[in-house]
Amino acid sequence: MSETIFHKIKRREIPSEIVYEDDHVFAFRDIAPQAPVHVLFVPKQDFATLNDVPFDSPEIVGRLATAAAAYAKKEGFAERGYRIVMNCNEDAGQTVFQIHLHVLAGAPLGHFGA
Ligand code: 5GP
Repeated sequence: MSETIFHKIKRREIPSEIVYEDDHVFAFRDIAPQAPVHVLFVPKQDFATLNDVPFDSPEIVGRLATAAAAYAKKEGFAERGYRIVMNCNEDAGQTVFQIHLHVLAGAPLGHFGA
């Protein structure tokens, strides 16, 4: 897959607030937050879309979700709640083609859909 803005964030080549990092995942605040908390969790292994993750590698996506839950607990919004979203391709509005999990929290969130 091609280089994206998230590679530059991972390498600290452009400024961003990285809030979480482990051997497999890094996370940073979204530049255009849609909720009081809006953080993106990205695997260190590259995949452009969810369609590109091998069927027998569910840990790639699972680690994003468990890292998000750990972050929610650490930051104190796990009990109130949060939403995780992954957009895939055009109809979902994916704009950065490097898979990432949105974590939205900090206020009651409206429901969404078409
Ligand atoms: P998508 O629409 O692909 O699901 O989400 C991409 C997200 O990346 C958007 O919410 C957008 O605001 C965020 N984003 C795009 N460019 C940057 C950037 O340079 N820095 C940060 N922190 N977030 C970005």
